[in-house]
Amino acid sequence: MNFRSPKTFLFAVVILLPVLIAASFPLQQSEGNFLRLKFGSKEYDVKYYNKRGSIYISLDDLVKKQGLKVDRTGGKYRIFFANRQISFVPNNPFVVIDTPKEKKKKSYQMPLSSQISGGELFVPVAYAKSFLSSAAETKLTYEFGAKPVAPPMEEKAEAPPVKTFPLSYRIDEKANGTLLRIFADKNIPDFESSLKDNNLRLKINPSGFSAGAPPKGKGMISSVSSSSFGSRGEIVISLAPDFTSYDIIRQSPKSILVTVYNKNLTESKTPSSKKEKWNFNTIVIDAGHGGKDYGAIGPNNTIEKNINLAVALKLGALMKSKMPDVKVVYTRSTDKFIELYKRGKIANENDGKLFLSIHCNSVANRSSAPNGYEIYLLRPGRTKEAIAIAEIENSVIKYEEDKDRYKNLTDENFILVSMAHSAYLRYSEKFAEILDRSFKQRVDVTSRGVKQAGFYVLVGASMPSVLIELGYVTNAKDASYMRSENGQRQYAESIFEAVKTYRKYYEEIIKQE
Ligand SMILES: [Zn+2]
Repeated sequence: MNFRSPKTFLFAVVILLPVLIAASFPLQQSEGNFLRLKFGSKEYDVKYYNKRGSIYISLDDLVKKQGLKVDRTGGKYRIFFANRQISFVPNNPFVVIDTPKEKKKKSYQMPLSSQISGGELFVPVAYAKSFLSSAAETKLTYEFGAKPVAPPMEEKAEAPPVKTFPLSYRIDEKANGTLLRIFADKNIPDFESSLKDNNLRLKINPSGFSAGAPPKGKGMISSVSSSSFGSRGEIVISLAPDFTSYDIIRQSPKSILVTVYNKNLTESKTPSSKKEKWNFNTIVIDAGHGGKDYGAIGPNNTIEKNINLAVALKLGALMKSKMPDVKVVYTRSTDKFIELYKRGKIANENDGKLFLSIHCNSVANRSSAPNGYEIYLLRPGRTKEAIAIAEIENSVIKYEEDKDRYKNLTDENFILVSMAHSAYLRYSEKFAEILDRSFKQRVDVTSRGVKQAGFYVLVGASMPSVLIELGYVTNAKDASYMRSENGQRQYAESIFEAVKTYRKYYEEIIKQE
């Protein structure tokens, strides 16, 4: 700018002066605007301000001068000390101290929230100092020595209200019992539980949560209610009179899973307690898919649900005529849609001694056209190929109204349920081995062997169980054999012969136990 005219010069001064003053102001004021901190062996000044009588110090300044490592990801402010870590959340009163070596994590609440000012995180020093001392395992003291910096611009009438997180609930009925998942948008700290007079009490500490809207009771859970969520929250879960046991696990940092078992699981856990209960008296035949769920579809009108049902009914008829002392239970005996969980439930309610789920295989890529039958056992830790098959068979879930029913089966609960199965695994393995031999002798389809996968339909059944893939609907030879009356009869006869052999083996074992 060239100030040739006095007018222009005056104009420039008027416009620029406030800017110049403002620019120099923080520089002048920041000299000496510090609070003296003694933190362990170090001593230094940190930036601070006074807001409504409370002193807030800059954590960014402290961390820099103390030489600490910070992680700012995930909206948190985590400071690393030798053995512990402390996390603050901007504009939030919560403090979490982690002790990784002891796997301990504790949440605390300050009476005032932290604040952001000038891009730095300020914490109320009167409250934060004890948490910082605890995390650092050393003493933190401070004294005033200079003027404070200006508090943040946005002035509120009162200190920001403490944010509370409502708890959410999800209740699901399974073949073995009822699941209650309690979750929040924030990590749920430690909890305690106790059972008295069929009331399961879950105490969640500390505050910071509201009770949300507990769900209506279902299955083994008669009702869910909550008492005051102040400094101490309590959820009361009333259990049905005929519940047998329960588990409470932390499913994730933000959710707790309560499993209440019905009598099906308890019976399954004590195989030798009542021998008469273990007579081979009931077989459950599960024709896969049905109704709106066609299963796999191959060329020449090869429809899986029809083949499954035809083989299931032929097997049932053979059982009834040649083994009349064994009750035959079908999960479906017509072309009807049945949800996966109901199939296991039907099996458990009928106290089945063997669960056979009948299916046909398929591949998306028809040019590879694999063929052959497969026999599947349920077991976690699966092969890649088995997972692919399981995905196809489990895709029936898309037809079900409540798709979330199986969502939690992928984690701990899956392991819980499949552990209940391990008691039967040797029986399932034995039956699979016998059936493989029987198929090899009698059916005109190649053996692809006995495999393992995580089928939901098997998860639900508390008894020895296998899933049979008769052959590939996408393979012309397999498909025409599976569609034929002769093929279906040979499958049914092979399975029946396997049941006969297995029954002898089973009754021998039961006698010995
Ligand atoms: Zn299927």
